[in-house]
Amino acid sequence: MNYLERFKVAPGSKVKLRKLDPASKDAHKSHKAAAEEIAHYQNKLRELQDLLYAERGHSLLICLQAMDTGGKDGVINHVLGAMNPQGCRVAAFKQPSAEEAAHDFLWRAHKAAPARGEVVIFNRSHYEDVLVVRVHNLVPKAVWSRRYDEINDFEQNLTANGTQILKFFLHISKEEQLKRFKERLDDPSKHWKISEADYKERGFWDDYVAGYEEALSRCSTKHAPWFVIPANHKWFRNLAIARIVVEHLESLKMQYPKPTVDLKCIRREYHAAAKDK
Ligand code: ATP
Ligand code: MG
Repeated sequence: MNYLERFKVAPGSKVKLRKLDPASKDAHKSHKAAAEEIAHYQNKLRELQDLLYAERGHSLLICLQAMDTGGKDGVINHVLGAMNPQGCRVAAFKQPSAEEAAHDFLWRAHKAAPARGEVVIFNRSHYEDVLVVRVHNLVPKAVWSRRYDEINDFEQNLTANGTQILKFFLHISKEEQLKRFKERLDDPSKHWKISEADYKERGFWDDYVAGYEEALSRCSTKHAPWFVIPANHKWFRNLAIARIVVEHLESLKMQYPKPTVDLKCIRREYHAAAKDK
């Protein structure tokens, strides 16, 4: 089965995260054994992004959501690292600024959405408005509970206008998170990543799980599907996401645009210039 189907949250289904193994490696034995496949999908990603950029018929929006240490930064490095920086961008969603907070919650997401030909990765996204906002009661339930429908309408509008949307939840276990916190503590080059909020948020793990389960269940749609990616193994997480993006972009059957010039004529000029040299 292709990975697009294998890890997709079927629209209308109810997600139970505890039933999905965060340590899965599918059929792969080890990172080493998968290295060739990883390189293959990275190369493909680069080719397909070049095509997307040249064709300018579609844009691609990748949303990344995860618990702290889930690996959003790692995915961005891996996926974007494979692409040409021209035509790619990352948009990070932090606590809303005063200006953002004065608008509706989708305003900043819409503003950051990709233009045709462009790839944009949302590092966190408009889903924070039904996650952290819900867990900490930052707005009344009556407000956040209608946002699922608002998000679906927003995403439908984007896709109707040529944006391809792929949303990834990086699924790690609570034990794996603790292990990663410890690694950060032991590695001076990672100390800057540590924030008090991370440990505090860990105390709300079950509330976040409930929030994610509702968002994944209600907002995985045909036009903008969610994928639950087993993310305890970083290399498998990267492989799975690269492969899903590749499979999706391949399904678009994109074509390089036809030349806008008369190639025969340009070739003649080239040969004439080469002869003169
Ligand atoms: P990293 O820690 O890997 O650098 P990060 O995405 O965790 O990346 P931080 O600056 O640590 O970045 O955290 C951003 C914080 O902003 C998160 O705690 C997130 O929940 C919060 N946030 C994002 N969107 C909203 C929102 N709409 N309302 C309130 N808080 C939000
Ligand atoms: Mg953080």
